[in-house]
Amino acid sequence: MYPYQIFDKTKRKLVKTVTFACKEMFIQAMNYQLVLDKTLEEIKSENKKPTLLLHVCCAPCSTYVLEYLSDYFTIALYYYNPNIFPKEEYDKRLWTLVKFVRELKSKIRPIIEEANYDPSEFYRNIKGLENEKEGGSRCKKCYALRLEEAARKAAEKSLDYFTTTLSISPLKNAQLINDLGAVYENKYGVRYLYADFKKKGGYKRSIELSKQYGLYRQDYCGCEFSMKNKR
Ligand code: SF4
Repeated sequence: MYPYQIFDKTKRKLVKTVTFACKEMFIQAMNYQLVLDKTLEEIKSENKKPTLLLHVCCAPCSTYVLEYLSDYFTIALYYYNPNIFPKEEYDKRLWTLVKFVRELKSKIRPIIEEANYDPSEFYRNIKGLENEKEGGSRCKKCYALRLEEAARKAAEKSLDYFTTTLSISPLKNAQLINDLGAVYENKYGVRYLYADFKKKGGYKRSIELSKQYGLYRQDYCGCEFSMKNKR
C-alpha cells in the first residue's frame, strides 16, 4: 500500500469518526420540545385540527399535556398500562383519570378508551429484567410495550398522530421514548408526535393542576418492582 493510500484511508476513517461523533452529539442534544414547537407551528399554519391518540399513564401526567395540546388536536385518551400493580392501583389511577376528564374546564372533553388489563403482557415482556434498576432495560421494554400498543390503536382508529404522556416525568428518558415513537411510527404508518413534556415547566404545571383538581398522585412508577423500591 502506498503512503498516500494509507493517508487517504486514515482521512476517510477520521471523517467517518467525526461524522459519527457529530451525529451522536446531535442525537444527545436533540431537544424534543423544539421539535414539538415546530410541529405545532405547522399545524397552526395549516389551520387544521388533526386527531391524536394520547397514551396516558395516569391522570396527573395527562393534566398539562391536555391543557397544552387541546387547542391543536382532537384528542382521544388511551389508558393501556398492564405494568401497573396491583389491580386496585390500576383502577384507582383509571378512576382518577375519569374524574379529571369529567371535571375538566374545557369545552371539548376527550374520550377515554381503556384497554384490557392483562398484566401477563407486561411480565412476558420484561422476563429476566425484574431486578433491573428503574430507568434501565426493564423500563425500556415497558415503554416499548405501551407505545407499540398506542401506535397500533391509533392505526386501527385511523387517527393522524399518536404520542404518550410518559416524557413529562423527570425520571423518564425522553430520548428513548422518542426513539421508540419513531420505530412504531414506521411500523404502523401513523405519525408520532415527538415531544418532551417536562420542558417548558410541564412537570411543575402538572403538579399545580393535580392540586387544583384534587387528583390522587401515586408515589411509585407503576410495576410491583418500582413499588417495592419506593423510598
Ligand atoms: S419502573 Fe415504571 S417504567 Fe419501569 S418497568 Fe416499572 S412501571 Fe415500567
